[in-house]
Amino acid sequence: MTPQVQQTLQQLQQQRTEPFCAYLYDLAALRQHISAMRRALPTGCELFYAAKANPEAPVLHALSDYVDGFEAASGGELSWLREQVPGKPLIFGGPGKLESELQQAVQHGVDVLHVESLTELCRLHAIAQRENQTVKVLLRMNVALEGIGGTRLMMGGKPTPFGLDEEELPAALSEIAASPRLSLHGFHFHLMSHQLDVDNHLALMRLYLEKVQMWCERWQLSIALINVGGGIGINYADPTQHFDWARFCQRLPDIVSVSQARGWTLRFECGRYIAAGCGYYVMEVLDIKKNLGEWFAIGRGGTHHFRTPAAQSHNHPFSVMRREQNPAWIYNEQVTLVGQLCTPKDVLARQQPVAALAVGDWLVFSLAGAYAWNISHQNFLMHSPPEVFWLGREAGR
Ligand SMILES: *Cc1c(COP(=O)(O)O)cnc(C)c1O
Repeated sequence: MTPQVQQTLQQLQQQRTEPFCAYLYDLAALRQHISAMRRALPTGCELFYAAKANPEAPVLHALSDYVDGFEAASGGELSWLREQVPGKPLIFGGPGKLESELQQAVQHGVDVLHVESLTELCRLHAIAQRENQTVKVLLRMNVALEGIGGTRLMMGGKPTPFGLDEEELPAALSEIAASPRLSLHGFHFHLMSHQLDVDNHLALMRLYLEKVQMWCERWQLSIALINVGGGIGINYADPTQHFDWARFCQRLPDIVSVSQARGWTLRFECGRYIAAGCGYYVMEVLDIKKNLGEWFAIGRGGTHHFRTPAAQSHNHPFSVMRREQNPAWIYNEQVTLVGQLCTPKDVLARQQPVAALAVGDWLVFSLAGAYAWNISHQNFLMHSPPEVFWLGREAGR
């Protein structure tokens, strides 16, 4: 927790008498983080933000000075990004794009369109013809991992709905060659998320480059860009051991020099690693009870606001903000932290050691800035939404 967040929460805790439930975002911390990420990245690389991690306007505005552009994964995100960050380059990707969404992307003049299948390529060809617009295309590829380690969440390296099979590449290349309105700008990979291992990720980058090199030689392709995806990981189990972006970037130049020699730019499109750290979800403890031998603390709110721990099946890191005047109900116990939903799945952290806890105390869950509020089933049980606080908001934004 940054000192600003701590101070704000302490003040709020002193003022509030009704059970509290809120998201709090630290935009100054977000700006600092993205600026450090940016500084570490060698030349020859670009950094995009995958908006689906957290598309809140203040987040997009805070990032827009530091990123090269934004990735949209739906027509909705595309319109939203056009409105919120006008003039910034946009990518449109994702499976199952509607024809109307492809058309919207072509009309908007997105920087580049990521194509996920041969069907989509045909649809795009027809739309580009009709709109009389040249469209730059990246082909999203799924490839076998060839000895490289995977992570907890795999979008590729095994059968998935994402990207083209290498066997389909000749057909895709012919389709593009036959279409005067489609131009092959490069290739796109996003094979895994939750990457915590620098060596593994470097090996993955090398595999991407080898593949692209091979395809370019085999089919005499001339391309400009390789999008190496996102997937840089946050370590929820041990927040001191997130992916080491600085060390990764220090070792990137070897890889970048290979791509630069061929005239290729490397583009990252990260979501979680950029946004997770700036967000906090806070629940006030409503009840503490022992049930068949185990302690439970029931907080105001739950996984309908903050689905991240349920979605990832992890115990989410948290800290307790005691109300000073409150005598503790329990000391040094293992406590399961749950919300208000009538389902045993409404668990944010299981059997966690807690030094002291009372009703009225606050549970502060960190790393709640990405895939949190926006992935939650907010209408389940019709509880009221959390309050939202933005720290470090700049004037006019
Ligand atoms: C979701 C997504 C990302 C961002 O992934 P993170 O794990 O949040 O970095 C990047 N690229 C594609 C294609 C995605 O679907």
